[in-house]
Amino acid sequence: MVGRDCRDSSIFPGTPLFCPTPKKGTAITQLSPAEVTRYSRQMTLDGWGREAQERLKSSLIFIAGAGGLGSATALYLLAAGVGAIRLLDDSRVSLADLSHQALLRERDLGKVKATVAGNRLKEINPFVMVESHAKKLSEYNVFRLTAGCQALIDASNDPGAGSLLNLAAKRRKIPLVRAWVWGVTGRLSTFWPGQGPCLACLSQETSSSHHPALLGPLAGIMGTLQALEVLRILGGLGPALLGRVLIFKGDQFKFTEKTLHPDPHCRVCST
Ligand SMILES: [Zn+2]
Repeated sequence: MVGRDCRDSSIFPGTPLFCPTPKKGTAITQLSPAEVTRYSRQMTLDGWGREAQERLKSSLIFIAGAGGLGSATALYLLAAGVGAIRLLDDSRVSLADLSHQALLRERDLGKVKATVAGNRLKEINPFVMVESHAKKLSEYNVFRLTAGCQALIDASNDPGAGSLLNLAAKRRKIPLVRAWVWGVTGRLSTFWPGQGPCLACLSQETSSSHHPALLGPLAGIMGTLQALEVLRILGGLGPALLGRVLIFKGDQFKFTEKTLHPDPHCRVCST
C-alpha cells in the first residue's frame, strides 16, 4: 500500500481509507485565525476537523485544463482551502468559452486562459497559492509539472493528457481523479496505480474529444463532483470512486455507475 491508513472508525466503521503519502519532511501547515473562521462551516462537519483542514492546506495539486470542468474543480478546491494549485492550459479565451467556463469574463477574450483563471482564483482566496502554466502537457514536462503534488486532476477532456497523467500518477504513487464530458453525459473516476485500476486498464472508457458539444451546467456538475472527490482524498476520508466510474446522464437526470477492474495485462500497471 502506498497510502497511509487514515481511517476514523468512529465515522466510517469498517471502511479502509487511505491518503496520499506525504513527502518526507513535509510539514503540516497551521491554520491562521482568519482561516479557521473562513473554513468554519466545513470544519464543523463530522469527519472534517482541524486535522483535515490542515492536511488540505499542506497539499499541492495539479489540474490539467482550465475550461468548463477545470474552472469548477479549481474554484471549489481553492475556496475549500487547498494550499496550492498548479493549473495548466495552453489555450486563449474565446467567445465560445464564455457559455460554460465560470472563471472567465467578456473582458478576458483573447487572453491566456491559464493566467486569467489563475488571477481570478487568487481573488477568491488569498490564502491559496496558484501557479499558472500556459503550456500543453507533454512527455517532456509532465513529470516536472507534477513534482511534489499529492493528487493529479484531469479536467482537460483530452485523452492524450489523461494518458500522460496516468504515467505520472504511477511513478509518483498518487491518485489521478479524472472527469470527462461528452454531449449530455459526464463521467468521473479515481485511478490510483497500485491500489486499483489505472486509466490504461480501461482505455475503451476514455474516448472523448477536446471540444465536445456541451451544455454548460454539465461541466459544472462534473467539475464540482471532481472537487468533492479530491477533497475526500486530501482530507483523509479516502477516494469514493476508486474502482468505480460514476456516470451522470443529463438528459435523464440519472446517476449510474460501473465497476472497474485492473487489467492483468495492463502495460502501465505491469511496469
Ligand atoms: Zn493499469
